[in-house]
Amino acid sequence: MPIPPADAKVYTTACDYCIVACGYKVYTWPDGQEGGAKPSENALGIDFPSRAFQGWVSPNQHDMTIIDGQRHHVVVKPDSDAEVVNRKGNHSIRGGTLALKVYNPDGPTKDRLKTPLLRVNGDLTPISWDDAFDIMSRVSRHVLDDYGEAAWGMKTYSYQYFENTYAISKLAFGSIGTPAYSPHDKPGPGSDTAGIDDAGLITFNASYDDWGQADVIFISGTDPFETKTVLFTEWMMSGNRDKKLIFTLPRRSTGVAWAEKNGGVFLQLIPGTDTVLHLAIIRLILENGWEDTEFIEKWIANSWEIDAGMGRGTRNTPWQWRTTWGRLGTDFAGYRDWIMQQEVSDLSKASEITGVPESKIREAARMLTAPIDGRRPKTSFALEKGNYWSNNYLNTTSYAALALICGAGNRPGQVRRALEATSAAGSAVHHTPGTSRPTNFRADAGRR
Ligand code: SF4
Repeated sequence: MPIPPADAKVYTTACDYCIVACGYKVYTWPDGQEGGAKPSENALGIDFPSRAFQGWVSPNQHDMTIIDGQRHHVVVKPDSDAEVVNRKGNHSIRGGTLALKVYNPDGPTKDRLKTPLLRVNGDLTPISWDDAFDIMSRVSRHVLDDYGEAAWGMKTYSYQYFENTYAISKLAFGSIGTPAYSPHDKPGPGSDTAGIDDAGLITFNASYDDWGQADVIFISGTDPFETKTVLFTEWMMSGNRDKKLIFTLPRRSTGVAWAEKNGGVFLQLIPGTDTVLHLAIIRLILENGWEDTEFIEKWIANSWEIDAGMGRGTRNTPWQWRTTWGRLGTDFAGYRDWIMQQEVSDLSKASEITGVPESKIREAARMLTAPIDGRRPKTSFALEKGNYWSNNYLNTTSYAALALICGAGNRPGQVRRALEATSAAGSAVHHTPGTSRPTNFRADAGRR
């Protein structure tokens, strides 16, 4: 591979293939130049031939591109100076190929769109940006004048987050004023993990270091070994080396294999039955008195706190937009009474519904709570779309309740979060006896 010369331009950036956002460095320099083998002659400061894992440039990390009309080399490699996230330049296979998606007029990316396209007589036809803006604004003016702002809708993605969502939501809400706005995976702006929000918990509050510190991690609906590789290899596999992983997935995956080899448990459930599994584990924990009583007494809202603020809680949690005054929510004692009465939380019934053997459910309940050297284990909870895109509210609320029962919430190594642009835990949905309305069990309303 060509070596970046000492005067190559260097930029820092982050990989955009997943939410881990590993740090990368980009080197660019004009075609026809190359760095030398001595550290002073190349931008990497390496004495070539380099040692193994010393930050050499792999074939997948180099490409050619056009900068200011001139052919340039481009190298995109993991930042070996990184002290956080992908420390010392750890990376996944995906991130290791970032350079290959750069626009190269002589490579596979040469078919990249370079202008807006307008469908003319059935064919997508290149047009200038000026024409695109003109057509867009005139059509919008026509729609707004003749049909009103509600007829002007926006469906948008939300990755590469702030830069894009700021601009596009400003257009929809500020300039147009339409209510018809639908980001990412939703029919309208709203929470991904509503049950967790309703529990009064912030979905994205865990740091990577928390995953390292945890003794036990319950992972639901995702395999981060496959989808957030550096989070798994750099943080979950390391840190506390005796860590146990509990995977809840319909299929056996690479992360599951690692978990089982290292003393973890695989709960291979029938898709969509997560709520039942969570309830069965919670019931087992409560029946055995394995819950984190100290945490529950300190952080779980009592009845007065739940009803305060006309059902918004004393802390004005996100559910203020759907007040539940007098109709929704219970304290821990109420929740405990409720779950003991549920047929689906019974171990044998839950095993029948979820397809997970009773012994595995028991093993998971024990692993989540069993003391280590006389102390409670640091238990954390992670979830992803396999959990909340199947049965969103019930799965996320019961998951949140399971996390809270185990004392996961706001302490190092004892967290819950989603591993995507979203995250985990906080309330247990159940049905209040005599009603069909889901009832929540809330954490820390008014206590922070
Ligand atoms: S884990 Fe892989 S895909 Fe995700 S940000 Fe890091 S290098 Fe990119």
